[in-house]
Amino acid sequence: MSDLGCSLLSLGSEEEREYGMQEYDGATPRWCPGCGDNGILTAAKRLLEAEQLPPERTVFVSGIGCSSRFPHYLKTYGFHGIHGRALPVATGIKLHRPDLNVFAVMGDGDCCSIGAGHWIHATRYNVNMVVLLMDNEIYGLTKNQTSPTTPQGFASNTQPRGSYLPALNPIEATLGVTNASFVAQTADWVPGHLYETLRAAYRHPGFAFVRILQRCPQYTSVLFDAVVRDPSRVELLVHEQGIDLPDLHDLYKNRRSHNPSNLDEARRLAENGAQMRLGIFYRDESHPRYEETRHVSPHSVEDRIQLLNREFDRHAV
Ligand code: SF4
Repeated sequence: MSDLGCSLLSLGSEEEREYGMQEYDGATPRWCPGCGDNGILTAAKRLLEAEQLPPERTVFVSGIGCSSRFPHYLKTYGFHGIHGRALPVATGIKLHRPDLNVFAVMGDGDCCSIGAGHWIHATRYNVNMVVLLMDNEIYGLTKNQTSPTTPQGFASNTQPRGSYLPALNPIEATLGVTNASFVAQTADWVPGHLYETLRAAYRHPGFAFVRILQRCPQYTSVLFDAVVRDPSRVELLVHEQGIDLPDLHDLYKNRRSHNPSNLDEARRLAENGAQMRLGIFYRDESHPRYEETRHVSPHSVEDRIQLLNREFDRHAV
């Protein structure tokens, strides 16, 4: 048997292939040292490996921002698009290739400012994908401008006397959209919780929105310092239908049982309070998904040829 024959045989079928974490490695990340994006990338790779997602059947779509470099750092398909447009691109991909595992990655400026319209409608469409909002509460790539989630009073280059307005709350906003089906919050510095949240989001059949609080040591280090150093400022939402990691119990004493099927309670808990809440706020698999309810026109090659032939026959003389 030739070498070529041996190597082809050794590839095996797709079912037999096993993917290690390193098989998802793309380019070397160029985020700043200590940037929370690094931990989020690691959690995503852990998920890809744990779920054994074939790189050629997985696609990460991003907009513009530090976080949007994500697709470059993974050896899957990727689309580094334009500012605020990750969600329409990801929606289009999923509608035409429902067999792909689709992830959309955005920053707070990307999602909550220029992309806000897409965010609302993509939530309502409830197309099956995982959405990562990597929220460092500032525009980092363009070097320190106030974003919609920058806390009131926090100084930046564009509002040096402090942000004028109260920050937009992405969890509250998403929960307010009709047909929202999965809304969760986690943090880059709690890796176990981050990974479990991504896993739950991936397994949710619908639009799974995950806000990840993300440290930016370059511009907003002071914003998360207190909650990172003092776990008593964090409250974990725990439930058998949500996330409850016994490993975190020693460190995070503040835990609240919250059934994520309770939307009213989820909205109440999402309101800004003294404590930062991490967990699944809301999850309901029964919401309609656009890809299931819309009229699907035939799009296989055979279907199209048949349609064309029928049209030609109609005009035959
Ligand atoms: Fe990360 Fe901030 Fe550096 Fe951007 S500017 S790479 S968000 S630390």
